[in-house]
Amino acid sequence: MSSSEPISLDAFRKKKQKEEAEKPYPGVLVWLHCPSCETVEYTEIVAPHGRTHKCGAAVEELEVSLDLRAEYTITQFNLKRISELLEKNKESKLRKLISKSLDNALIALRQSEETYISRLHLAAGCQIPIYPGDLESLRDQLPIVETNKLGLLISEFRFEPEKRFADQKKI
Ligand SMILES: [Zn+2]
Repeated sequence: MSSSEPISLDAFRKKKQKEEAEKPYPGVLVWLHCPSCETVEYTEIVAPHGRTHKCGAAVEELEVSLDLRAEYTITQFNLKRISELLEKNKESKLRKLISKSLDNALIALRQSEETYISRLHLAAGCQIPIYPGDLESLRDQLPIVETNKLGLLISEFRFEPEKRFADQKKI
């Protein structure tokens, strides 16, 4: 097989593009638990020397290595799902009261997804691209543990974080 330069350059570009399309963005997020207030929250800020909660108690920390790009992709699917639900809810004018409280719940969910996205970008230190493809083609390669009643995807990282600390106590 003869490979003239333009062809091999083209092949090289295609290979690069393919690598770029599949490249994970490894990173670390931290789950924080205050044993006194019993709050559980996440942060992108790793604190190797520990930190103190506002109540004064020492915070329990669990660093989790993950693919920020996969988390971002999952969250984008969730945002899409939330806007579909908000759109659908607009149509159900007959159930006004229910739809108003559902609207508020969906808007709160949208905010928490948007916050998560901004933390993912902070953790990466750059803008992250989403993985190309639709949910069906990506489902097996994304760390999705569960789909909740609203059809939102729960990633491994965000699945029952309080259990991470409960399990730790048993050890
Ligand atoms: Zn506290």
